[in-house]
Amino acid sequence: MAATEPPPILRSALLAEVPGLVHGFSTRSSGDMAAGAGGQDASLRRFAAEVSGRSGEWRWMSVRQVHSSLVWRDPAPETAGDGMMTDASGVLLGIRVADCVPILLADVRRGVIAAVHAGWRGTVARIVEKAVGELRAQFGSDPADLRAALGPSIRRCCYQVGAEVVEAFAAQFDYAEALWTPAPADPVRERYPMLFMTGAPPGHPRDPRWNYNPSVCLDLAEANRRQLRAVGLPEGAIDVLAYCTSCSPEWFYSYRRDGAQAGRMIAAIGLRLPG
Ligand SMILES: [Zn+2]
Repeated sequence: MAATEPPPILRSALLAEVPGLVHGFSTRSSGDMAAGAGGQDASLRRFAAEVSGRSGEWRWMSVRQVHSSLVWRDPAPETAGDGMMTDASGVLLGIRVADCVPILLADVRRGVIAAVHAGWRGTVARIVEKAVGELRAQFGSDPADLRAALGPSIRRCCYQVGAEVVEAFAAQFDYAEALWTPAPADPVRERYPMLFMTGAPPGHPRDPRWNYNPSVCLDLAEANRRQLRAVGLPEGAIDVLAYCTSCSPEWFYSYRRDGAQAGRMIAAIGLRLPG
């Protein structure tokens, strides 16, 4: 899928056609956007200019991401949370990711934007549903006017998860089984099933809740797409960019693949200043 040299920015065709809006998802060619990384300010300035086609007019807004379901309107710097929204022009909302799903939202009627960070914990806590609820409460947004783009993230092909995650999703979503597929077979496990005996109740030997370590491959992007549909976004109003961060090391950082030292990409959305 990926050529060696990625473009500096990936964009959603759906959001790109919204007048007055700028947005983009960074790749490795824009550098490491991790908080505290050397040269971060320069990288952010450069990315802001690349995203908007202009330099010097943008102010970054971000939150201290903590895998919560907290969504803020115009948060002060270092506010703990995982979503933010604004109707102010000249502000770029920035979400940092390295496998989690970055979600950019725009109300095309009211000129309001939001950005959300959804890892598995935030997804179980329905952060993107809450973000849409907050847009409605704070700005009167009608979900039918919203457009959403889900950026590069770890996908079903690579995101093996264990019982803790599976149980959390199964308890929360009646469509949970549509979000996962069995993990690739483990030859040792196939040959020596007695070594992996668990407390599976009779009649449920294939229930993933009882298959431990790791059990299934989870589709976080699909989980968030379903949440957006559930709160009223039309079918054609959600764009899922077809990139897996773990599959394409030349293009993306990946926490799952690279470990704790993995760099971060940034997803950004902003409203242009008038004129
Ligand atoms: Zn993958």
